Amino acid sequence: PNGADNDFIRMRTFDLSVISKVERSQLLRRPVLKSDEMISKVKPIVDEVRDRGDTALLEFTAKFDKVNLSSPVLHTPFPDETTQIEENVRQAIDKAYANIRKFHEAQAENSTLKVETMPGVVCSRFARPIARVGLYVPGGTAILPSTALMLGVPAQVAGCQEIVIATPPKSDGSVSAEVMYVAKLVGASTVLKAGGGQAVAAMAYGTQTVPKVDKIFGPGNQWVTAAKMLVQNDTDALVSIDMPAGPSEVLVIADSTSNPDFVAADLLSQAEHGIDSQVVLVAVNLTSSELDAVEKAVDLQAKALSRVDIVRQSVAKSIIVKTSSVEEAVKFSNDYAPEHLILHLKEASQAVSLVQNAGSVFVGPYSPESCGDYASGTNHTLPTNGYARQFSGVNTLSFQKHITSQEVSADGLKVLGPIVATLADCEGLDAHANAVRIRLRQILN
Ligand code: NAD
Repeated sequence: PNGADNDFIRMRTFDLSVISKVERSQLLRRPVLKSDEMISKVKPIVDEVRDRGDTALLEFTAKFDKVNLSSPVLHTPFPDETTQIEENVRQAIDKAYANIRKFHEAQAENSTLKVETMPGVVCSRFARPIARVGLYVPGGTAILPSTALMLGVPAQVAGCQEIVIATPPKSDGSVSAEVMYVAKLVGASTVLKAGGGQAVAAMAYGTQTVPKVDKIFGPGNQWVTAAKMLVQNDTDALVSIDMPAGPSEVLVIADSTSNPDFVAADLLSQAEHGIDSQVVLVAVNLTSSELDAVEKAVDLQAKALSRVDIVRQSVAKSIIVKTSSVEEAVKFSNDYAPEHLILHLKEASQAVSLVQNAGSVFVGPYSPESCGDYASGTNHTLPTNGYARQFSGVNTLSFQKHITSQEVSADGLKVLGPIVATLADCEGLDAHANAVRIRLRQILN
């Protein structure tokens, strides 16, 4: 290859019809996350904040974020000057907020499910908000109002009483005005100016100024993820987390009707996230010249990106998988269980019915992932690392829990009681059986 070819930003190509089962399963793998190692590294930070509260929190913020704060929090009402943003950005945030709110309001469970399982035996299920939630918005330098929206809107819609937003402070000790604007919009009570393991610990245990929360949400680097995993296993913290998190991913399925420039743009919008981004193209019966067109578009568009150095590394680790039918392509995708699945197919909406495992699906040529990342209405906090097999993305129900209830009438107990007493006898639990029989005796007298 000549010099120009060496510089070509290229994905690696595999043909599903010729590779072995072992090779196929290797293509489905993600890089191994060293979670045990990270958990033991973050533990001293978490312990210090649990034991020494605000003092430790401020020390870690000085150490890791290079900011000396007098207080780690801002409470409502937030001063107007902290939420001043450009008019065009305000309008865009407001529109995204409205769409996300509309979609997440429709998910809220407000009515009680009621079933009479036997005459006189009525079982119900109803939802209640999780009272206090902590939302982690990553990044000290990057401005991430989108993550604040994606976590804050469902919390607000679900009716959570206390919303705490944690984010690392900027070098001047402030929080980006865009994040502050969203905090106000979603009704957050507290903004915690801290990041990493110390922010997670402060929300899990509470400090002098930070309210303790019941559930912690949000993406973040390996310190954040490890701290979330650690505190959810501590019964003293009594806190849960949204889901395990890993590097972001996209899987694109494309056939001959797809626009190679669109396909390339979608692959690159994921590749620019970071060098550990996972990018997969599954090609359905593309001719070598059609595949060539996609590869050329990837190279051309990549070189024009400001983050070309990141993209060069993530594309080199990305793969193209050649398949011979839509069914085979979706089967591969289901086995991979991508965070984002984009369908560049002639019959894209029909293919959705074949999808079994994916965080969020983008259907047809005019549905880029970016729309779901920011403003269409769906949530962008989604399961990575193959966890789309058993986890849903963050949604309104993530901020609620269900309570069941039963109301048994005297007539109901006449029929149900003997069944329960028999089962209790069978397990040797006399007091259980007695709680039924003592009532049956009264009813039958
Ligand atoms: P971050 O907020 O996750 O982490 C910054 C914090 O990490 C700092 O405040 C510091 O406390 C801590 N930290 C850094 N180095 C440390 C060290 N050596 N020891 C102890 N603590 C340390 O921000 P980030 O680092 O920019 O990472 C952002 C992450 O969030 C990335 O992995 C990115 O992919 C992810 N992300 C995901 C989404 C999404 O919605 N899926 C959006 C944006 C970012």
